[in-house]
Amino acid sequence: MSKPSRPVADIRSYHAHVYFDPATTRGQAEWLREQVAERFRVRLGRWHERRIGPHDQAMFQIAFLTGVFPTLVPWLMINHGDLNVLIHPNTDNARKDHIGNAIWIGERLRIHSEVLPESEEVNLEMEPNTEPTLQP
Ligand code: ZN
Repeated sequence: MSKPSRPVADIRSYHAHVYFDPATTRGQAEWLREQVAERFRVRLGRWHERRIGPHDQAMFQIAFLTGVFPTLVPWLMINHGDLNVLIHPNTDNARKDHIGNAIWIGERLRIHSEVLPESEEVNLEMEPNTEPTLQP
């Protein structure tokens, strides 16, 4: 018997992780963050100036609900510049979310999967902290 496919409703939200090099591309990351804040209702995470958790480079996180995906992701595709972006779903399997089931814009970076749990309670706290005024 074949195993059933996972329903798309398993995806509660998404993260985009925007990586930068503090010495060379932090300015681009600041620009991108501002542009996103002006155009999308998302939750912007704080700046991480060095690698943290499974991430191999400095970055900040954009958390967003599924309805934002069809505009934010194409917008990032054509506006990421020299920055590399990881986009992953949030389901109940953080390891799969970050490794096999993620998409990348730009170059694919290393993910330190050993720190990711195989399963976890998804944090549904996704209160947007931007007030967009512009169209994407
Ligand atoms: Zn994430």
